[in-house]
Amino acid sequence: MKRLVLLGGGHAHVKVLADLAARPLSGWEVHLVSPYRRQIYSGMLPGWIAGHYPISSCAIALDAFTARAGVTFHETSGFELDPMRNELHCTDGSMLDFDLLSIDTGPLTAVEALPGCAQHALPIRPIEVFIAQWPGLRQRIGDHRGVFDLVILGAGAAGAELAFAIQHQAATHAGSQLRVTLVGAEALPMPGLPLALRRRAMALLQERGMPWQGPRRATRIGASMIEFESGPSLPYNACLVVTGAAAPLWAAASGLATDERGFIRVGPTLQSVSHPHILAAGDVAAHHQARPKSGVYAVKAGPILANNLRALCMGNAPGNWTPQQRALYLISTGDQHALAAWGSWSWRGHWVWRWKDRIDRGFMRKLGTSA
Ligand SMILES: Cc1cc2nc3c(=O)[nH]c(=O)nc-3n(C[C@H](O)[C@H](O)[C@H](O)COP(=O)(O)OP(=O)(O)OC[C@H]3O[C@@H](n4cnc5c(N)ncnc54)[C@H](O)[C@@H]3O)c2cc1C
Repeated sequence: MKRLVLLGGGHAHVKVLADLAARPLSGWEVHLVSPYRRQIYSGMLPGWIAGHYPISSCAIALDAFTARAGVTFHETSGFELDPMRNELHCTDGSMLDFDLLSIDTGPLTAVEALPGCAQHALPIRPIEVFIAQWPGLRQRIGDHRGVFDLVILGAGAAGAELAFAIQHQAATHAGSQLRVTLVGAEALPMPGLPLALRRRAMALLQERGMPWQGPRRATRIGASMIEFESGPSLPYNACLVVTGAAAPLWAAASGLATDERGFIRVGPTLQSVSHPHILAAGDVAAHHQARPKSGVYAVKAGPILANNLRALCMGNAPGNWTPQQRALYLISTGDQHALAAWGSWSWRGHWVWRWKDRIDRGFMRKLGTSA
């Protein structure tokens, strides 16, 4: 029997599992490799921090899902790939060979370029590590005498959302003296989004007493101080790093064609441009029509990936995918209020949060596999 291996339980692979559960694939055994038994839906993570959802509402049970789809689950990580011998080596010492491989392992937080980050800061990824460390950080904040300075490095949509969520969580707990400072590389938070929305985010930071530092580029994180290209250092009690997506090193090391940042280059069928029996989707892939790294595109790639894997298994030609030009951004601001952007349009309000909440819960309900 031939073997399809799914590496990583990311958003696109979740859609592949749903497809396999609905339509079993004959003549092929399918395996999923994931270091965790669940996949966190990042769109709801700030809502968990803010106290709106239990973590179980934000988690997809990969083990239950694979069982339903007739897929063998391996609780481990791939760390070395040989695309010529079709071998995937995993951190638990196992080796899986494959006829067809699909990769959806997501990004890493870009920490390598920032000395001291690994020693002193808490990166948002792996998200499970952040989730495990968050209660301890909350405890530290609660136990601290005087003002506790939490610095969030990285003011993209995710960094801003986390800042608002953490500030809201602290503001609703009496006695906490938390000051959340958001640091970004541009003059306003959330580069790439409409100016009106960015100004609104800035106004919200001010309204909530959350200091903004930008444009500033950090060059080093010390034990209690962040240094920048210019200007004074910033003291901190804890530093959360949300500085965007970096590629895993094993992808380029394997010999797969990658872009200049190390993301796997794929063509319109999501097949690697160098090794067509390997496909990639989500943030780990560099699609030939470049789009921002975002969960929306990872989710949208899922059905195409499922169809193309099925076609290749059946000996049929895979189809082409043109990612949509624009994605809807819904950014929660902690207090069941949210900002929205679509192209150059933007909106805000409590109704936007209810809209986001409906979309997020609907996504999880359709999968029917909360952990
Ligand atoms: C706080 C936060 C909020 C966000 N909110 C939004 C939002 O509202 N909308 C939006 O569009 N985007 C959002 N994003 C961005 C979004 O999270 C990513 O773009 C999205 O997760 C990418 O999906 P993916 O499938 O590529 O990878 P992931 O969702 O990262 O999934 C990858 C999976 O692969 C596993 N994995 C990693 N390495 C290995 C390995 N070596 N072997 C096996 N498995 C591995 C991981 O454990 C994980 O389960 C947010 C990000 C953050 C941090």
